[in-house]
Amino acid sequence: MSIQFIDLAAQRDRLEPAISDGIARVLDHCMFILGPEVREFESKLADFGAAKHALGCANGTDAILLPLISWDIGPGDAVFCPAFTYCATAEVIALRGATPVFIDIDRETYNMDPESLRLAIEGVKTEGKLIPRAVISVDLFGQSADYPKIAPICKAHGLKLIADSAQGFGTSLCKEQPLYWADVTTTSFFPAKPLGCYGDGGAVLTNDADLSHAMDSVRIHGKGTDKYDNVRIGLNSRLDSMQAAVLLPKLAVFAEEIKMRNAVADRYIAGLKSKTLRVPTVLDGVTSTWAQFTIEVPDPDGFGAAMREKNIPTARYYPKPIHKQSAYAQFPTGAGGMKNTEDCMTKIISLPMHPYLDEDTQDMIIETAKAAL
Ligand SMILES: *Cc1c(COP(=O)(O)O)cnc(C)c1O
Repeated sequence: MSIQFIDLAAQRDRLEPAISDGIARVLDHCMFILGPEVREFESKLADFGAAKHALGCANGTDAILLPLISWDIGPGDAVFCPAFTYCATAEVIALRGATPVFIDIDRETYNMDPESLRLAIEGVKTEGKLIPRAVISVDLFGQSADYPKIAPICKAHGLKLIADSAQGFGTSLCKEQPLYWADVTTTSFFPAKPLGCYGDGGAVLTNDADLSHAMDSVRIHGKGTDKYDNVRIGLNSRLDSMQAAVLLPKLAVFAEEIKMRNAVADRYIAGLKSKTLRVPTVLDGVTSTWAQFTIEVPDPDGFGAAMREKNIPTARYYPKPIHKQSAYAQFPTGAGGMKNTEDCMTKIISLPMHPYLDEDTQDMIIETAKAAL
């Protein structure tokens, strides 16, 4: 049996027949987009996320775009985000015609470094060319960003805070989810994310009724009283009923799956910790969703090749940070520099991680990883 990097089939085995029954119901009622399953899912997602409002949308990229459009962020505006993230975080800023300003990460957690953020905001203000408008923090690899430090910086400078929780939806810090500090949390239901559907999907969560109202309009072509009354330029960004039908049984076991992911991570950390292999650091009081289990080794490509010889898949997130990508090289980096981002990108590599990784398979991965060093 081959080892999966993320085993979606094992999860489906557990959840059937609920998933197939849900899809069959959608085929029967034919309300394919924003149908009853979407409404039910949005309500349960809001409960899970301790949010007053949750709205489904087409994917996790649009989810970040929805608040940016709602706040009319565009040319001349600066939006701050970490350089070590998936490109979508920065892409939506550039798509709006605004300027992404890249921020360095904390060397231990890989999340946006609050002090670098502060320096970057002050730098942009001193320069006076761009107007700082918002910060997008990322809960990278499933770990909550340092919101107790980031949120006061945003507040002091009058900036909106978006929590890009595509990887970290379900993470908590001192029992609070990112929305406790952020204006809006965005997430992705791309199949490989901790809470994934069987195609593309995403959602936004907020406690701000005005923002929720505006985002609901933006996701349906800028609708006013109905979709044939257009009060703003929007998107076509809705969630399919079929995807919501897949997500409902998955959401029902998600809290348990986060616990299972943490049990896998704890075993990895205990088994792998060594002088030549760096295991992940999780902040005190944080529960990670472990979207990725990312280690650091001296030669990640050589390590990956040695693992592949034993049929163990690995992946590198992300071998090249955004500010080094040709499409983004024109945009500024924050005054704090990029030292930590550029250091860890030469070392990081991720191991198989999912809730259904059994102990025997995991022990095999641990032994192979140690031998590969
Ligand atoms: C996956 C991801 C996104 C984008 O989600 P899609 O559903 O693929 O559009 C955005 N930000 C981060 C950090 C991600 O990991």
